[in-house]
Amino acid sequence: MTDITISHEQIEAAAREAYGYAATIKGGVNAHYIPYLANIDPGLFGLSVMLPDGTAIDFGDTTYRFGIESISKVPTAILAMIQHTPQGVLDKIGADATGLPFNSIFAILLENDHPSTPLVNAGAISACSMIDPKGDSDGKWKAITDNITALCGSAPQLIDELYHSESATNFNNRAITWLLKNYDRIYDDPDMSLDLYTRQCSLGVTSAQLAAMAATIASGGVNPVSGARVFDAAIAPKITTLIATVGFYQHSGDWLYTSGLPAKSGVGGGVLGVLPGVMGVAAFAPPLDEAGNSVKAQAALLKMMEILGLGIMDGRRVTIVK
Ligand code: GLN
Repeated sequence: MTDITISHEQIEAAAREAYGYAATIKGGVNAHYIPYLANIDPGLFGLSVMLPDGTAIDFGDTTYRFGIESISKVPTAILAMIQHTPQGVLDKIGADATGLPFNSIFAILLENDHPSTPLVNAGAISACSMIDPKGDSDGKWKAITDNITALCGSAPQLIDELYHSESATNFNNRAITWLLKNYDRIYDDPDMSLDLYTRQCSLGVTSAQLAAMAATIASGGVNPVSGARVFDAAIAPKITTLIATVGFYQHSGDWLYTSGLPAKSGVGGGVLGVLPGVMGVAAFAPPLDEAGNSVKAQAALLKMMEILGLGIMDGRRVTIVK
């Protein structure tokens, strides 16, 4: 097995080709169970890459703010680990892939009353309940959004219309919250915890911001643009493990097997991918497959990995040169 050297130019060329290829891919439909998302232009498409030295590579609609949705589970899991250690998150929530849809109630029952992982709805609502300062909705919201700002190097913006749209239709998540409360897996006020989860899903971000968040994880917790250490290096492999094992829900195994890229999706159409030590990537296009993962974003990231010949499991050391 040989080590590999890749230039910025090669990565940019791979991203350009992957973008051009994925732009031709049809199929999928916008998330329809959240009214705001159903009405987003399905033709939007962006691909962003950030390298560990802060170099940004962007193609398409990379400044359009879309709903972060389930990708918000990643920064809040990181925050729960910052505040309560990775072991604390394992004890209180767990780290098991469910192999089931993101909003599964069955998964909670199967796991014997455990939320499973902070990257499905149940575990994410539980993670919101873990965030300090306890009992203080404004303080918790500030902690959640400050953390996202530090990870991205710029602030997300709440999409009010999306927040109202989701709050008015989140009946399944209300059921999850109260079932978890029944099992003592909600560590603060249940309604407040659900509201924080719903609000964080309604934050607007760009693919360029998500690529910076991914690059911060890929760089062991240091934001490549600001140079700030956002989280302890020991948290990086933990969050990347969660992303790899459950980031695409019931398709996580197929996706990792095919692409070699740990990635997390959101029903807003975003996908964030982390290749440790190499790059952070993010793509955005609203139409989704039946598991809630963006069709074009998957095509773009898969193509990029194929062109570069990279994969998290291949055991090669990758050196990036200018
Ligand atoms: N807010 C959405 C929900 O709770 C997020 C789901 C997702 O992006 N997979 O259903």
